[in-house]
Amino acid sequence: MTEFSLTWLLLLPALGFAVGWLASRLDLRQVKREERDSPRAYYKGLNLLLNEQQDKAIDAFIEAVQNDPDTTELHFALGNLFRRRGEFERSVRVHQHLLSRADLSTADRDRAQHALAQDYAKAGLFDRAEAAYRVLEGTAFSTEARRALLDLYERSREWPQAREVAAKLESAGAGSYAARMAHHLCEQAHELMHGLGPHAPSPSESGAALPHTGEQQALELLTQAQATAPMAARPVVMKGQWQARRGLWSDALRTWSALLRLPQAPLALVAEDIVQVVAAQEAAGQHEGSGALRDQALALLHQAYEAESSLVVLQAINALAPQGAAQSLTQHLARQPSLSAAAAVLKLPAEQWQAQGLGPVQQALERSARPLQRYRCAACGFEAQRYFWQCPGCLSWDSYPPQRIEEL
Ligand SMILES: [Zn+2]
Repeated sequence: MTEFSLTWLLLLPALGFAVGWLASRLDLRQVKREERDSPRAYYKGLNLLLNEQQDKAIDAFIEAVQNDPDTTELHFALGNLFRRRGEFERSVRVHQHLLSRADLSTADRDRAQHALAQDYAKAGLFDRAEAAYRVLEGTAFSTEARRALLDLYERSREWPQAREVAAKLESAGAGSYAARMAHHLCEQAHELMHGLGPHAPSPSESGAALPHTGEQQALELLTQAQATAPMAARPVVMKGQWQARRGLWSDALRTWSALLRLPQAPLALVAEDIVQVVAAQEAAGQHEGSGALRDQALALLHQAYEAESSLVVLQAINALAPQGAAQSLTQHLARQPSLSAAAAVLKLPAEQWQAQGLGPVQQALERSARPLQRYRCAACGFEAQRYFWQCPGCLSWDSYPPQRIEEL
């Protein structure tokens, strides 16, 4: 089935141009004698394609191109056929040949340039692809070229260039790229903060204390990211982390509190950072006011847990206030019978959870085991509660192993 449709995918463009070309040719009342050879080469190529002999078909079409070098459509079709088959050297040659022709219309020239850029990108020659896409700026292909450039720059982690292209796409009305641009800025800031990337400071400089300029630049990038995408979590997360690294613990907590106003209140992403901020302050020996920071952290975590009852947040709360751990965990388990919560409860000293009984733990185990108590078809993956001799999904006989998923 897949082989069949794949072949047709390859065949269709070739068929299309062959039929179209033939139709246009047959329209001509006076077929010149010297051109008689090319239709014959076409029929031959078409016949070979229909017989799934693609290699021979391509040879026949190449022969047709040589006999009739003016046919741009045939060149495009051949070039695309080569690219789809992974023969990039040949597709590049076809498209370069098109571009070298003086009689090519502007529209066809842009089209050939776009095809050539796609050849390079598919072949993994990113520098050449970049140059080829850049030429398309201002043509009918400029939006497509910019989208491709954005992917190329993200793939090669060239964040300033990626952001520049994304900004052009956004201002051209090609969609919203704000969230993506914020990520570009954050990636750049991340490289500065961790001494990575092309403009990283030398290892001797990038020890515990960052060079001042890189550090400031990272903060500016994060602020810019926040302004670019105010609903994005990452700039807020990273800005707080930047402050925590500099010992601005209280500021970091205040920054992270902004996460509560974002969709899904993603404070769980920094729950461990919050515990570390409190530990870092205590390790730094700033005992005066240390209780205040712990209270600030706990208040923030409690607010987050109310907004979105995440086990990660609860465990951060318990790390900062262990005295309430047993009660809050068993309550959490009763509400959300998850395996992780059950495991956390079982980790407590036995006398702390035995009072609640094993009920909630048992419930969590049963709920989590249910998806594993199914049979799964080895042929198509269809899962069912009961055993089938014939799979209802793919109709195979005896395709279910006699063991349930858990026992496989
Ligand atoms: Zn099946």
